[in-house]
Amino acid sequence: MAQFAVIGLGRFGSTASLELIRLGHQVLGVDAEPKYINRLADRLSYAVIADATDEQALAELDLCRYDAVLVAIGENLEASILCVLHLKNLGVQQLWVKASSKPHHSILSRLGVSRIIHPEEEMGIKVAQALVYPMINQYLFLGHNLYLVEVRVDRHLEGTTLSALLTGTGHEVKTVLVKRQSQLLAPVPDPFVLATDDCLVLAGPLSILKSLAPRLG
Ligand code: ATP
Repeated sequence: MAQFAVIGLGRFGSTASLELIRLGHQVLGVDAEPKYINRLADRLSYAVIADATDEQALAELDLCRYDAVLVAIGENLEASILCVLHLKNLGVQQLWVKASSKPHHSILSRLGVSRIIHPEEEMGIKVAQALVYPMINQYLFLGHNLYLVEVRVDRHLEGTTLSALLTGTGHEVKTVLVKRQSQLLAPVPDPFVLATDDCLVLAGPLSILKSLAPRLG
């Protein structure tokens, strides 16, 4: 079980906190407004009313011992940046910060935070991709134009072999695993005959994965 601290319990911070709890981790929630703390206090592991621009108040929370700290103060640029500066001074290593604008992003990247999050943009991209490729359940960008995608096998592919589905992709697309109901197949047997609702986890360059889309839909 990991320990996380989430500073700012608006819609984004509270959703992230509750999901971390659902995933079985401990969460300290921090907010300057008692009403946000009261709303979540009985669902989080710990909840503290504190002003995150006050370095002493942050020091008392001993945030260095957490696996990661998420700063989810969006609109108040000054408060977000001051909070990040204090957390850096206090030696917090894994620092994830929500950014609300390009200037906010630029400042955060100069402060060397571990990850800058743009919830609206990131969700907008995911929604657009889900609209274009509804058969892709999940995807993960691996860097260097490589993606890992999870694809559900549609009924029309029942009985097709995996190698027939991947014809023409050369060796550039790798089948990482197949999930069939509760069974995980890795490595995937060859030949492998697809069944409806199999989940294929494929890795490869975006352009080649895209070329598979018409066969999958
Ligand atoms: P969301 O979209 O997630 O609701 P937002 O981007 O509109 O949030 P804000 O409402 O500015 O961002 O801030 C999110 C939370 O951060 C609020 O609950 C707010 O009370 C809290 N917050 C703002 N400033 C501070 C501060 N200095 N110390 C602690 N918490 C703060």
